[in-house]
Amino acid sequence: MKTIDKIYINGEFVTPQGTEYFDLISPTTNEKLGKVRLGNTEDTQNAIRAAKNAFKTFSKTTASERIQYLTNIKSSVEKRKNDFINVMTEEYGGTLQFATVSYDYMLKSFDSAINLLNIYDFTKTMGESEVQMTPIGVVGIIIPWNSSNGFICSKLSTAIAAGCTTVIKPSEMSAQQTQLIIECLHEANLPKGIFNIVNGLGEIVGAEISKNPDIAKISFTGSTNVGKIIAKEAINSMKRVTLELGGKSPNIILDDADFSKAIPLAIGAAFMNSGQACIAGTRLLIPENKLEEIKPIIKEIVSNIIVGDPKNPNTAVGPMVSTKQYNRVQDYIQIGINEGAEILTGGLGKPDGLENGNFVKPTVFINANNQMRIAKEEIFGPVLSIITYKTEEEAIEIANDTTYGLQAYVSSSDEKRAHNVASQINAGRVQINGIGHDPMAPFGGFKQSGIGREFGTFGLEAYLEPRALIQQK
Ligand code: NAD
Repeated sequence: MKTIDKIYINGEFVTPQGTEYFDLISPTTNEKLGKVRLGNTEDTQNAIRAAKNAFKTFSKTTASERIQYLTNIKSSVEKRKNDFINVMTEEYGGTLQFATVSYDYMLKSFDSAINLLNIYDFTKTMGESEVQMTPIGVVGIIIPWNSSNGFICSKLSTAIAAGCTTVIKPSEMSAQQTQLIIECLHEANLPKGIFNIVNGLGEIVGAEISKNPDIAKISFTGSTNVGKIIAKEAINSMKRVTLELGGKSPNIILDDADFSKAIPLAIGAAFMNSGQACIAGTRLLIPENKLEEIKPIIKEIVSNIIVGDPKNPNTAVGPMVSTKQYNRVQDYIQIGINEGAEILTGGLGKPDGLENGNFVKPTVFINANNQMRIAKEEIFGPVLSIITYKTEEEAIEIANDTTYGLQAYVSSSDEKRAHNVASQINAGRVQINGIGHDPMAPFGGFKQSGIGREFGTFGLEAYLEPRALIQQK
């Protein structure tokens, strides 16, 4: 049984002033793994004070100093590969496959931040003026549980590249993963106060970050509802916000697609990270006259998906992070049934032999339509709704008929046609004939999937404030 009773402020592990504990429960067995002592408002204020103080000198560092810091952190993260993968499978229930991808993503965040520092011009000439891109100040980083250390590494590395200091609030459910990244950051031996990490609840630690006037910007990843609460609070002190929120991503399979490739990809896109992914392709749009051909392909693929122990290298779908999340997914499956959608495969309840953990049956609905809640709302579990369309125009219309716009997918054997369809989808990223991550391309949402972009120069500039010097001659 582990007890995590330290947070990290000003280069030191400190005991929080908060005295409440939160139980850490295994998603695989529902046994208690340990507990974490939660920080309170005062702890958060101390962390903000440390970051504010550190900003005075850190904001003046050169690109090569920042590159050195990023290199130091990367090399301490590199030493703990197995620990990162193991803690993610144990604490979060992330599959070994996903935890390995997630670890690579962590390392790549440092590489892309270094790459940006090598190419980005912090001083530009615009019109007759010199424009200086200056670090924005102390950044509050608030993140969810579904890829905790991945989010810490990508947001922190961008903040460091920009010359900003940070206060980070991960989910209380990720405390063991947080402990590990703190150990690596501590080992990297950066000047004190550049990063400060406070375990705690959203309504306490997150709320203080959202309202404290010494926070200049918030970089938030999480649900659309919490994103709205943060944005409303942030406006009082005119904080800048980058909000990476929910999604209900459409996946358009055009009638000329190679189904033997496009359908396995579509199932992979829907059930990635056990369905707990903001970019999951959870609305599969299929030509009406191809449904009967596609149904057996889907049934076959889903019947071969291994659900179970996340530590098994063949497992593709692990447990939901908590019983709360399990119940949410079950509720949505019931809603789909009540709405008149038909279960092609999966359904309510736990798979046989997996009754102890938060396991759900990967579920595919047919006869769904875009008015149903299962097709409109983010479920955040392995539940896919198939919607049929008659024409390409109708497919695009259905794809765009959503309050979200984070990611979309298009498959066709005609690259030009796929490109043309992709160019009409209102989403921050559109994946054509596959799934990939380009760390130099912007990532973020249209509509209620968020505000702003991460990654590449768009991501970096979200941490910078332009100052124009207009000199009269
Ligand atoms: P959540 O919104 O409930 O919580 C996210 C973080 O916000 C947590 O650290 C939480 O403690 C904190 N928080 C909660 N209430 C707060 C408040 N009042 N003020 C400040 N902070 C508060 O999300 P979750 O359940 O942890 O994660 C799932 C959600 O995250 C899904 O909706 C998913 O789509 C979204 N997500 C989005 C992306 C993206 O990049 N767009 C990536 C992953 C997850």
